[in-house]
Amino acid sequence: MVTTSHPQAYPPASHKFWGSLCLSWYTLSQEAPGKDRVERGRVRPLLLRTWRLESVCYPTTRMSRQNLLDLLPSELEDLAESLGVPRYRGRQIASWLYGKGATDIEAMSDLPRDFRAILADRATVAVPEIERRTPSQDGSQKLVLRLEDGARIQSVLMPDADRLTLCVSTQVGCGFACAFCLTGTMGLERNVTAGEIVGQVLAARAGLEPGARITHIVYMGMGEPLANYAATVKSLRLLTDPKAFGFSPRRITVSTVGLVSGIERLAKENLKVNLAISLHATNNEIRDRIMPVNKGFAIEELLEACRRFPVAFRQRITFEYVLLEGVNDSPEDSRRLVRLLKGIRAKINLIPFNDWEGSGFQRPALHRIMGFQELLLEHGIRATVRWSKGEDIGAACGQLKETVEV
Ligand code: SAH
Repeated sequence: MVTTSHPQAYPPASHKFWGSLCLSWYTLSQEAPGKDRVERGRVRPLLLRTWRLESVCYPTTRMSRQNLLDLLPSELEDLAESLGVPRYRGRQIASWLYGKGATDIEAMSDLPRDFRAILADRATVAVPEIERRTPSQDGSQKLVLRLEDGARIQSVLMPDADRLTLCVSTQVGCGFACAFCLTGTMGLERNVTAGEIVGQVLAARAGLEPGARITHIVYMGMGEPLANYAATVKSLRLLTDPKAFGFSPRRITVSTVGLVSGIERLAKENLKVNLAISLHATNNEIRDRIMPVNKGFAIEELLEACRRFPVAFRQRITFEYVLLEGVNDSPEDSRRLVRLLKGIRAKINLIPFNDWEGSGFQRPALHRIMGFQELLLEHGIRATVRWSKGEDIGAACGQLKETVEV
């Protein structure tokens, strides 16, 4: 038998209603008599209301001890001060955590011994444990990570020329149920904390060959980053803080299913990270069918939010477009895509569908994929075909699902 790996699903499996994220609320509300989903304006208030409740519905796991990885360097300084030592002790902790990758508080040898004892009593450094590492023939590696409460997530390391990209997960499972996505079949189990997001980077980094370095981070693993907004933003601050990881924000990309309210909030954070949008369709009829989120945020509204998004100098918004045979791969779709993206500094990532058992979708033939790309290029749109990495190990886009044989 194959089951999802999380031993104690939170919320309980019987509450899959909750487990399909707050999205279910609006889906159900729309299915209720008199709530025609075409009337987008009417469902939005409910969606927004549930959106704000997200942290109430899905509290991140509360551990008794503070995970130091959940704290920004400035908060480590506050913590040090609150424990009666000078603020600079907090900076020392940050350099142990991020510079040296230390996980043992006792080993932070330049901290006073009694302070280490107090700190170890109240705090921990909870780096997810790499339970399994599966190498792909194409050089990528899938990491199965076990979190403190036993939940499992996946990260994927993808080397490419002079880059080494880490794909991180922001939720255990996903509640958005995109029809073509295997992760979506899991439902949402829980949000991942900021410390667990950056912990994926620390765990992956600790296992690299000497001299290797993670150069790029993409939020394209399991889950929807903007549905776990607070943890996602905090993790972005940790990754870009020079006193923590110090990544350039240009090397970080957050991918979203298209949560307009989240995109608008992110636009105001001054983070300067790249944005990727999972568009996947060129009209609402098709997008409604394959991406339930579209029933709350229609394409026009999504693209308006993209037009307002502050795109860094020389950067572009990436539009991901999974090519599904007979669904969204016609020349007409390609032409509509050109029209839709007018006025947006965009680049398109065409992702030939990665199959999984029982999906009900198929990857289009090669000539159809190339023809789709050709049409975009002819209209001056940057378009690349992303032949997913790790397809042979179930680590490609949309193939992340954690299962255990029992
Ligand atoms: N929830 C976020 C992050 C996931 S990123 C988002 O939707 O953007 C993973 C990307 O792979 C998304 O663009 C997703 O739509 C795409 N994807 C999902 N299933 C896929 C599949 N079977 N084949 C190809 N791409 C897929």
